[in-house]
Amino acid sequence: MSKIKSKKSQHPKITDIRVVLYPHEALSEQAEEVIDFDDDLRARINRLKEVLKSFPNGLGLAATQTAWMQRVFVCYDNPEGENAPGEITAFINPVFEPEDRAEPIKAEEACLSLPGISVPVSRPLRGKLTWQDESGEQHERQVEGLLARCTQHEIDHISGITILDRTDETSLKAVKPRLRGRKC
Ligand SMILES: [Zn+2]
Repeated sequence: MSKIKSKKSQHPKITDIRVVLYPHEALSEQAEEVIDFDDDLRARINRLKEVLKSFPNGLGLAATQTAWMQRVFVCYDNPEGENAPGEITAFINPVFEPEDRAEPIKAEEACLSLPGISVPVSRPLRGKLTWQDESGEQHERQVEGLLARCTQHEIDHISGITILDRTDETSLKAVKPRLRGRKC
C-alpha cells in the first residue's frame, strides 16, 4: 500500500525539521528519491546535521525521522572513533548491498524516534554502500561494523521500517507495554 504524499509533507519548513517520535506516520512511509541537488536540499541537510548533533548519543538520523520524506540520512562518518566521533556525512539516495558471506550479527539498537527503547536486531556488518553527495556526485565505499549497522538502520527508516519491525517477537513483546500510550 502506498500513499500519495503532498509536496508539503515531503518538504517541511527548514525550521520544522525536528525529530518525530513513534508512532508518527512518517516513520512507516517510503521516502522519495532526491532529484534536485539544489541550495534548498543543502540547507535541509545542514539542518538535519544540526539536529543530529543536538543528541549526545545519536549516531545517525534519517530525513523521514523529521517527516521530511526524501531518501536522505546523515551519520557520523566514523562512529567507532574513540575520542572524536568524526564528521557527519550526508548520504543521498543510498543503497547498501551486504557482502555474500557476511553473517548477520545480533546487537541492541536504539533509535532517536523511540527514546528509552532498545531491541536486538540482526544485520550483516559488511557490505557496499553507494550514495550521492550534496552536489549529486556518486560515491561507493565498503562499510563494516557500526557504520554498516547504522547505515542499514537509516536506510530502513527511509523505507518506512523501524527496529520494531526488525527485532524478534519476544523482544517486541517485552517493549510493547512501554510503546502503549506513546503520543506522536
Ligand atoms: Zn532510528
